[in-house]
Amino acid sequence: MSEERSLNFLEEIIEEDLSNGKHGGRILTRFPPEPNGYLHIGHAKSICLNFGIARKYNGKTNLRFDDTNPSTEDVEYVDSIREDIKWLGFEWEKELYSSDYFDKLYDFAMSLIRMGLAYVDDSTAEEIAAAKGSPTEPGRPTPYRSRSIEENIALFEEMKSGKYPDGAKVLRAKIDLASPNMHLRDPLMYRIKHAHHHRTGDKWCIYPMYDFAHGQSDAIEEITHSICTLEFVPHRPLYEWFIEHLNLFPSRQYEFARLNINYTVMSKRKLLQLVNEKYVTGWDDPRMPTISGLRRRGYTPLSIRNFAERIGVAKRENLIDLSLLEFCIREDLNKTAWRRMVVMDPVKLIISNYPEGQIELMEGENNPEVEGGEGSRTIPFSSELWIERDDFMEEPAKKYFRLGPGLMVRLKHAYIIQCERFVKDETGKISEIYCTYIPESRSGSDTSGINVKGTIHWVSAAGAKTAEIRLYDRLFRVEDPSNEEGDFKEYINPDSLSVISSAIIEPDLINAEQGRGYQFIRKGYFTLDVDSSPEKPVFNRTVTLKDAWAREVKKG
Ligand code: ATP
Ligand code: MG
Repeated sequence: MSEERSLNFLEEIIEEDLSNGKHGGRILTRFPPEPNGYLHIGHAKSICLNFGIARKYNGKTNLRFDDTNPSTEDVEYVDSIREDIKWLGFEWEKELYSSDYFDKLYDFAMSLIRMGLAYVDDSTAEEIAAAKGSPTEPGRPTPYRSRSIEENIALFEEMKSGKYPDGAKVLRAKIDLASPNMHLRDPLMYRIKHAHHHRTGDKWCIYPMYDFAHGQSDAIEEITHSICTLEFVPHRPLYEWFIEHLNLFPSRQYEFARLNINYTVMSKRKLLQLVNEKYVTGWDDPRMPTISGLRRRGYTPLSIRNFAERIGVAKRENLIDLSLLEFCIREDLNKTAWRRMVVMDPVKLIISNYPEGQIELMEGENNPEVEGGEGSRTIPFSSELWIERDDFMEEPAKKYFRLGPGLMVRLKHAYIIQCERFVKDETGKISEIYCTYIPESRSGSDTSGINVKGTIHWVSAAGAKTAEIRLYDRLFRVEDPSNEEGDFKEYINPDSLSVISSAIIEPDLINAEQGRGYQFIRKGYFTLDVDSSPEKPVFNRTVTLKDAWAREVKKG
């Protein structure tokens, strides 16, 4: 696919840089997650872009944990991020941490102070905000802006040594209080925070701000193309100002549009609320848009990479339809999933002319989409079966090609049967369906000459096993919950999970493997959940066979 499409704007920039011999033809990108949550599908987009573009141009990609905010970061997140990137199929050149640069960043700050380009400000956050002005009104200097270089050096050293409490002072760059770009109105470089850091421990009580850490970290690593999302466009002049005044490697920043998907939220802060307030069972709840949630749900790395490729690289924010992600996983699973039979809402079917107690072993290819079928499994057949309740109609409608009194249907991998009669229980519910089978119609050696329109799935009642099945729907009932009035959590879809506690599975599914996709024929794609035990398998529905929702909507 990548060969056929035209270049995206980042590839155009890179090809031009390569043809000009910039950086000696070297391409080095980075993926810079803040370890304050699990990665989501938006990050996957960024990962595919950063690693993908480097791979395409024989470059490399660093993984840099942007860990400058000690209070929200945790090693649990670091581990999950590593795992998710590897699972997506990418390898990083170096694993780095912004916190590794704390000493260097401190020295950079001192250099700017010595150049008269940074000062310690004792104003409160409110005072600083008030003095900053507005986009239409220039800012004013605080009384501390005119401090001498010597005083600034002494104060900054004292800030570092722990003399002052949180918030007492900040270090600011001395740039331009009248700049039309608010980010250049003497931005903060350092704040005081007496907090334990997951890597540097208690060594530091001052921490650099994003804007003072990110560009310098890029430059230290000699990143050639620093790709980030559009909200950083107004930060770019500051990114360049620090690099220029510190005379560092000229990393350049390029921006693309964040990925947003409808019927979900895509911010770690909001996802964390869903986890902490128990709206979901964890970061890897299969309804979450996290990479770990998608993995548990049964998404494959290839489907996510294809999705990232299909949405392309945009320069304008938009909302991508969830159905595109679902299309990508169906496309992959259709080629790879193993076919199995599962009855979710069972009704008993009895074949009156089949010898009672006899068991016949039918064959079913694992994967009819590939040559050779990836082997096959045996499926026991007997006189008592379970079929799906909605595969039978007491008074069949027109064009209903399943079972009903007098109707014929094929049992997948087995025989053609004809319905003779049915029995209802005291509540009026159909409890047994009686059929006869046509012995010459066995699949693979059918000499009956009978053509039937419908094929249904079934499971033999003798030796049947059961499993729990979890059916998922979209997590929110509105397209863009973050843009609605009130709290986004008010818009959670109350029916995002429904559980079938004992579906009837064909015996081979007891051997289901974690990480493999299964198509429960006529039902959808499923995968084994981590909650499974040998006694009780649990399956997650990854996606339905077709877009049930789109059809609902069409119906009105
Ligand atoms: P969030 O807002 O979800 O918490 P973030 O931007 O704070 O995300 P970071 O850990 O800072 O998360 O992001 C790491 C990288 O992933 C950044 O380069 C960021 O631009 C990119 N990224 C984050 N969210 C998206 C998204 N929705 N689409 C594309 N890239 C994203
Ligand atoms: Mg961030």
